[in-house]
Amino acid sequence: MLTAPINKILPYSVVDGPGNRVAIFVQKCNIHCAYCHNPETQNLCSGCGACVEGCPAGALKMEQGRVVWDEKLCCGCDRCIKVCPNHASPKVTPMTAQQVFAKVCESIPFIRGITVSGGECGLYPEFLMELFRLAHTKGLSCLMDSNGTIDLSRYPELMEICDGVMLDVKSWKEETFRQLTGSGNEVVKKNLKYLADSEKLTEVRIVCLPGMVDAEDCILGISRTLSGEQIRRLPLKLIRFRHFGVKGALENHPSPDLAYMQGLEALARAQGFEKILIL
Ligand code: SF4
Ligand code: SF4
Repeated sequence: MLTAPINKILPYSVVDGPGNRVAIFVQKCNIHCAYCHNPETQNLCSGCGACVEGCPAGALKMEQGRVVWDEKLCCGCDRCIKVCPNHASPKVTPMTAQQVFAKVCESIPFIRGITVSGGECGLYPEFLMELFRLAHTKGLSCLMDSNGTIDLSRYPELMEICDGVMLDVKSWKEETFRQLTGSGNEVVKKNLKYLADSEKLTEVRIVCLPGMVDAEDCILGISRTLSGEQIRRLPLKLIRFRHFGVKGALENHPSPDLAYMQGLEALARAQGFEKILIL
């Protein structure tokens, strides 16, 4: 049966979309953001074994070239994640949509819906369709949290069943986006328009990091791409970069100050955004 590699399932989250939701994090991403705050979700485990010996709980072992994780023994210290040289985690479980749905059901009736994040959930369209179909049988809304680099217009069936997409606009200029992620952003811009026109754009997020992210250009670019009415209705989250969880060159980088964030907010307001949140 079809499975997706699942990094973790949060039974309750109020920061992954509207209301209380189950947040499901898939493993693997198709881009590599320098500011990623959960870099351990970026790659699938290569089976190098570097994390096994240091596990204080004996929860990891190698079997036939693969690392095997024993959840019952694991104390959750995350030492394995810190030592992994591959931006991966040994604590990933392949799960079917039915198995994930069974976990989701444990949180009913305290949730409004589910949000699938990652990693990049758009890498698993068939899995998402199956999971969303199941979630809808319980009246749950189904959101995707996406980096926008997979052309979602190629998956009309998924978009039909998906209630909305929380879209990252990481940078507007192609070269800035490439420096930040190692990839181009043409598809992100296409998705922005496609999702807004099909009324599936739940919110747009910009992680603000002066010098690395052209947040001003993002705000102006989004406002030029969408209609005035779309802009007025669109929740815009301006997220202050924080170094927690970040690995690499930005792991001790300071956050932008409040004055910078308020300047961005004023710029967005001048373009017609009304639902702006600084985080
Ligand atoms: S988090 Fe990782 S290192 Fe820590 S006990 Fe669990 S498997 Fe072992
Ligand atoms: S999780 Fe990382 S360190 Fe552990 S075996 Fe996989 S790639 Fe190696």
